[in-house]
Amino acid sequence: MSKTSYIAPGATLGVLGGGQLGRMFVHAAQRAGYFTAVLDADADSPAGTVSHHHVKTGYRDEAGLAELARVSAAVTTEFENVPADALRTLAATRPVAPSGDAVATCQDRAVEKAHIVRCGVPCAPHAVIETEAQLAAVTDDLLPGILKTSRLGYDGKGQVRVNTRAELATAWADLKRVPCVLEKRLPLAYEVSVIVARGASGDVVHFPLQQNLHRDGILAVTTVPAPDVTPAVQQQAVAAAEKIASTLGYVGVLCVEFFVLADGSLVANEMAPRPHNSGHYTMDACDRSQFDLQVHTLTNTPLVAPRLHSSAVMLNLLGDLWFPGGAATAVEPAWDRVLALPGTHLHLYGKTEARAGRKMGHLNVTAATPAEARDVALRAAAVLG
Ligand code: ADP
Ligand code: MG
Repeated sequence: MSKTSYIAPGATLGVLGGGQLGRMFVHAAQRAGYFTAVLDADADSPAGTVSHHHVKTGYRDEAGLAELARVSAAVTTEFENVPADALRTLAATRPVAPSGDAVATCQDRAVEKAHIVRCGVPCAPHAVIETEAQLAAVTDDLLPGILKTSRLGYDGKGQVRVNTRAELATAWADLKRVPCVLEKRLPLAYEVSVIVARGASGDVVHFPLQQNLHRDGILAVTTVPAPDVTPAVQQQAVAAAEKIASTLGYVGVLCVEFFVLADGSLVANEMAPRPHNSGHYTMDACDRSQFDLQVHTLTNTPLVAPRLHSSAVMLNLLGDLWFPGGAATAVEPAWDRVLALPGTHLHLYGKTEARAGRKMGHLNVTAATPAEARDVALRAAAVLG
């Protein structure tokens, strides 16, 4: 048997990170008959609290990593900012997917963009800024632009919009002169993402493109089928994501975010080495979800193309919803009224404290037609205020 033989149900699957993505992975794995182990220092982490095993240490804790490896038949991650070395350490004794090297590529915007360019996929004109000399060498055609920290940015954090060279210099100073990427600000017609799953054998499957609306840099709404996507954009995005994955020798679920510009051209934005917020609709609108495919890629189960069986709209439920009209204390939203609407599927992540901007859950609305899904989503949004 090859070293990538199938891991059968009954085994324990490990995940680095205890956030909501880990929780949904754990749920998918458990439903398929696996036991689960989560490594996360937080005793109340969304995934740790629903897992069979919870190793409560940091990602760099050698004893914790050894314990995770001891109980797990294979290990994945739910968070791209786990130390790549933690994945490499685990890989010495257990199958790990995605690999530390693949995750490391996604952790750094400069390295990520270089990979995208290497794959022949268009990305925004940009410059890496790590030194004063690189700052001075920035060409005016990158302005107006967005200065983004190379590492640790998410949900629009670590980003500053700059219009002039003076603003750029100030913004970089404000960011403590950490390594950054300056990107030209592009005229976006709309945003899409595509999720692919690639197995150890190199087989790759994908979900349909999803169209994403962001508010304040945070994903707010995902719509599938993507209303504005043409067959050409769909085909280009899937081909680009597959190339990005195969060139990395990627194993696991990978999401690539794209901009579609006014002229219809496609520009890759960034990638995530894990299931993605924009793929949460797959839990209710597809015959297999992105988390099911994470289980399949980790256990080396044959990959079968997932099928979209319903139109879907996903609404992110941020902590702001718990404070209607700026209420001082948290008020639970009227879930009963939301669930009275047809085709609504509520997913809450078990986070005890609601905070503005914090992802508390999501609502999937599924329907037979895009118009119905949109109509119910609008009514649900009205209930939630
Ligand atoms: P994050 O890691 O926070 O998701 P992104 O690079 O995806 O960061 O940026 C967040 C959002 O900001 C994007 O979804 C898009 O709406 C907007 N944005 C980012 N880069 C650009 C750009 N070069 N031009 C125009 N809008 C952009
Ligand atoms: Mg993004």
